Amino acid sequence: MICFNVPPVIGTEEKYIHEAILNHKISGDGEFTGRCSAILEEMTKTAKALLTTSCTHATEMAAILSGIGPGDEVIMPSYTFVSTADAFVLRGATPVFVDIRPDTMNIDEALIEDAVTDRTRAIVAVHYAGVGCEMDPIMATAKKHGLIVIEDAAQAIQAFYKEQALGSIGDFGCFSFHETKNLSMGEGGALLIRDPSMIEKAEIIREKGTNRSKFFRGQIDKYTWVDAGSSYLPSEMNAAYLYAQLLQAQTIFADRMSSFTHYMQRLLPLKEAGKIEVPTIPSHCRHNAHMFYIKAAGLSERTRLIEYLKQHDIMAVFHYIPLHSAPAGLKFGRFHGEDRYTTKESERLLRLPLYYGLTVQEVDKICDCIEEFYR
Ligand SMILES: *Cc1c(COP(=O)(O)O)cnc(C)c1O
Repeated sequence: MICFNVPPVIGTEEKYIHEAILNHKISGDGEFTGRCSAILEEMTKTAKALLTTSCTHATEMAAILSGIGPGDEVIMPSYTFVSTADAFVLRGATPVFVDIRPDTMNIDEALIEDAVTDRTRAIVAVHYAGVGCEMDPIMATAKKHGLIVIEDAAQAIQAFYKEQALGSIGDFGCFSFHETKNLSMGEGGALLIRDPSMIEKAEIIREKGTNRSKFFRGQIDKYTWVDAGSSYLPSEMNAAYLYAQLLQAQTIFADRMSSFTHYMQRLLPLKEAGKIEVPTIPSHCRHNAHMFYIKAAGLSERTRLIEYLKQHDIMAVFHYIPLHSAPAGLKFGRFHGEDRYTTKESERLLRLPLYYGLTVQEVDKICDCIEEFYR
């Protein structure tokens, strides 16, 4: 059977986890957390990268740091994972959903401004499949209306928009290291902070509202409760797992990219015959081979294709019931403008297996099967 996803294992994870245990420091913010942060800061050229327990939590931190509260509105796509909206709903804010572009499945930057009201506080750019949103126009709209930009870069580590790392362009960027992402620590994430003046506040929120981070750096001799906060730091054992993967990030990247490229080549004839669509990568975006998807003609063809692949032991999946049509989306949010593409395109999209270690033979088998289906 070809699984849809196999969590990445590079082989050195156990060694570093063992080291973390021998260090007698398994709670957060030890040596491995520090090493991971340094690598992430170097990779993204951001002032600060704080490891978190998930991307969801990194987004919650961004919402708190942005001062989002009841009555505020946050503009985002509806075609995204629930966490993008949850982080703001938890603060009492209203997600305002706008339509996506059918080519990249990212928020349509041209529709954002029309959704701005006097209650709008932030825009969330979700870089679907590790392909950058149109950040220049998004940043320009934000600047014009005094809005904060948060990048949901859960899928976008090692991807770039005009040579800037995704996650480093807006005020805050959120990575995920869940086992379904390119690099993993089981459960985990990171918050990227562009403005150095926000770092201290972020450290306090992450450490239960205390100034413990300052204490550990020897900047104060006692730590205390200074603000409202929570506990967003992962254990050293998780950080050790991530450290192993960050050291081998290029290996994982290259392996995924070769599968992605092979899919593209093999499925080109079907695309040219007008049977399916394949991902579009704008020329100014460098993606990270997070995902390979195809688009079928519509919902019923996709359902039949999933079934056909399953009969041939291939697991292909779709995701994201558009948030505005989900029960919580109806309760907490609203859609601004017309849903031209969100629902329609989400019903056509099918994700094919793509993970570190997927073989050429497996990609061939999957593509053969898709060709047979369309014959
Ligand atoms: C995976 C994902 C998340 C959530 O990441 P966690 O680390 O599991 O919290 C959020 N947004 C998007 C777009 C994702 O793909």
